[in-house]
Amino acid sequence: MNKLPCINFDNTYVKLSSNFYTEIKPRVPSNPSIIKLNSNVADKLGISSEYLKSLEGLNFLSGSEIIDGSEPIATVYAGHQFGYFSPQLGDGRAILLGEVVGKKGRYDIQLKGSGRTPYSRGGDGNAALGPVLREYIISEAMNAMGIPTTRSLAAILTGDKVVREDIFPGALLVRVASSHIRVGTFEFFASRGQYNDVKALANYSIQRHFPDLKSNKDKYLGLLNAVSQRQAELIAQWMSFGFIHGVMNTDNMAICGETIDYGPCAFMDEYNPDQVFSSIDHSGRYKYSNQPKVAPWNLSRLAETLLPLIADKPEDAVQDAQKIIERFSSHYDNIFRKLMIKKIGISPLNSCEEPKIFEHAQTFLELLKAQKADFTNSFRSLTNYLNGTAIPKDLNTLAPSEELKAWIEDWKLILKHHNVEENKTLEILRSSNPFIIPRNHQVEKSLLESIQNYKIGITEFKSFERLVKASLEPFKENLNNKDLCLPPKESEKIHETFCGT
Ligand code: AMP
Ligand code: MG
Repeated sequence: MNKLPCINFDNTYVKLSSNFYTEIKPRVPSNPSIIKLNSNVADKLGISSEYLKSLEGLNFLSGSEIIDGSEPIATVYAGHQFGYFSPQLGDGRAILLGEVVGKKGRYDIQLKGSGRTPYSRGGDGNAALGPVLREYIISEAMNAMGIPTTRSLAAILTGDKVVREDIFPGALLVRVASSHIRVGTFEFFASRGQYNDVKALANYSIQRHFPDLKSNKDKYLGLLNAVSQRQAELIAQWMSFGFIHGVMNTDNMAICGETIDYGPCAFMDEYNPDQVFSSIDHSGRYKYSNQPKVAPWNLSRLAETLLPLIADKPEDAVQDAQKIIERFSSHYDNIFRKLMIKKIGISPLNSCEEPKIFEHAQTFLELLKAQKADFTNSFRSLTNYLNGTAIPKDLNTLAPSEELKAWIEDWKLILKHHNVEENKTLEILRSSNPFIIPRNHQVEKSLLESIQNYKIGITEFKSFERLVKASLEPFKENLNNKDLCLPPKESEKIHETFCGT
């Protein structure tokens, strides 16, 4: 073992019983190199970027060496995938290196794509370059928009080859999360009747994420409620930015409330409540408009695992848990309503007027739907109907119409009625509606270019770098990035995205 004092690990998950994980070392990659290092995330973790850029840092980030304090494990979980229960999943291609306590809390550092584990089932334990870059771009864009998410500390080339429908360059994502505990982690133990483990996991989750609940007499009910609230907040934000996760299986729902597992996810271009991108989501189970319905379904699976801890009498436990699950929708509606009101430039009011203004925002969505107009740009273009600086007209796909004219007139009346100064409205519009999102066709283009470049020996991925940089300032009107903000032309549209597993 190397003596490297640069990372102060403080591992707690590994102190749970060995039922929760398997100790395992990452596979040593043949020729690792850093594609992208995220100094913001390094700062958050209290790790020096200089150290991470050194050879010792690269050895750590690539899994080539296990540094002092790191106790690598693969964690076990189960999960409902597309509604069907898989009793044993787990980190099939991920290895948790350990936990660090940064300025604002405790974080897991995990390698994704670091070789096979006892939970790999038929998988090869690998990650290909494309999906790693995709997760890096989208997770960092999500964070920049203020949406809770796992982060990307680094993207690494392994020097190895990965076989998928073709042969691709192998890569690793160094993922950082508040924790990797999933609804499926609870399901794993409950489905085997290991309620001591469910209880240990619930207590651990409370300690790590909701410490205020510790002395609560109904703390397990409190846990369910807290997880449910975080999910309501998360999904409302996804919806307000047009984000489609694509695989909302219970093993992909983190109890800390961060977006996790970027597979076939994408931001929608034209507004379509039925939008699906995932190539494997044939029934549209995880389509855009279903996301707020799937979340309480998943939370019900979590509730079931907690029932024996909630009350001695099963019927009491069911009743208590049901009340919490039923509350999800009103909590979600409340947050979503406020977010949509902001998207049309009005501060949430906390008054009986909110529903009426929300309805006006909904009418705007109807206009977008009828015209198949671009979700992001249509909202951003609301500034054009006021006296502020307008965004370039060609970004707005919403055509002038009698309906739009009437909508704008009513909108202006609402603004007037609420006595909102125009500058204030513009400020709210610009901070609630991104100028730039990582559009699916731009993401795909940059991944394709990166893979092609790699094949001819170029490992500087310029379009990836540009997309990441642009996505880090989503609300800033930077006209140098105008090309990245244009909705896809018919020929550029991506209709399907793949998990890349
Ligand atoms: P996902 O659809 O990415 O959430 O993955 C579902 C399950 O499959 C998880 O248990 C993953 O760890 C596992 N998995 C996905 N891809 C691979 C792979 N290439 N090798 C091994 N396991 C994998
Ligand atoms: Mg997953």
